[in-house]
Amino acid sequence: DARRAGHHRVAIHTEESAARRLARQTQERALRKAIETNTLALHFQPKVDLQTGAVIGAEALVRWHLEGTGDIPPAQFIPLAEECGLIHRIGEITLEKAFAALAAWMETDLPPVPVSVNVSAVQLDGRLLAAKLRDLLRASTVPPELVEIEVTETAFAHDMEGAIAELQAVRAMGVRIALDDFGTGYATLSLLQRLPIDTLKIDRSFVSDMIDSRSSEEIVRMVVALARALGKDLVAEGVETVEQSRRLVELGCEAGQGWLYARAMPVDALMAFIERNRGTVLGRAQPNTPQA
Ligand code: C2E
Ligand code: MG
Ligand code: MG
Ligand code: MG
Repeated sequence: DARRAGHHRVAIHTEESAARRLARQTQERALRKAIETNTLALHFQPKVDLQTGAVIGAEALVRWHLEGTGDIPPAQFIPLAEECGLIHRIGEITLEKAFAALAAWMETDLPPVPVSVNVSAVQLDGRLLAAKLRDLLRASTVPPELVEIEVTETAFAHDMEGAIAELQAVRAMGVRIALDDFGTGYATLSLLQRLPIDTLKIDRSFVSDMIDSRSSEEIVRMVVALARALGKDLVAEGVETVEQSRRLVELGCEAGQGWLYARAMPVDALMAFIERNRGTVLGRAQPNTPQA
């Protein structure tokens, strides 16, 4: 009967959450181990000039390959790391690896381009970001203008004044700041005006819909106008097709990243990619390396 069915559902629900709790604990333990054994890797996705295909920057994206399980996407383990506090260590590791990559790069004859590192809202709350960046800049020959951090609008949801202060400290060192996934969060226009950011990144959802959806295209047009009005640079995320790339350029967005150009790849592959694409134009660039 209904009461028994209801009771049954509750029992299943409890069991499910116990199972989920266990899975989370297991994953947290595995993540802790990955950190201790230095198995988290940093891959880099090129940012390109949409018209020429020239590499103008790279975004660092953390990668976790769990032996026996496979690749675990950051969208899954970053939220877990934020909940259990491991995000602070992951944040340090990604910054350290990005600096190491930039330093290695500066040893080559390739023109260095800025590398951006994603930073979680939790890291801003801890107020340790500026201090960590200051240490890294002191200890290396990497100039601050080659370093960029990416934050999302959620970074300002909890302690807006604190987050702004922390970012101002970061920016005062000469490190650039990009607002990631723009348009999907809660940033109001007045907040946007106050944020110490250099770049707006148009979220992939608008880019992927803009060819078929008039409203997405209008949103892209509006973000382009907004970036111009506020004097911000603009980067489109998730450019997958030639049509999207062309339309973005027509609308006034000249920089982008996406699978049309390249997926994230290890630093060696990135340097080879830059070498191969030197002086080539879009359409004549060498095939992408098949790296995820
Ligand atoms: P994000 O910062 O917006 O990064 C862009 C995501 O879109 C990346 O996914 C990238 O691989 C993917 N992507 C790039 N081009 C395309 C495309 O053309 N099509 C499609 N469908 N996807 C594309 P990824 O690496 O799985 O990262 C997901 C999110 O996880 C990131 O979104 C970022 O919020 C977070 N994340 C990644 N690495 C880090 C990190 O080192 N630290 C922190 N705190 N968060 C990170
Ligand atoms: Mg990002
Ligand atoms: Mg993004
Ligand atoms: Mg995104």
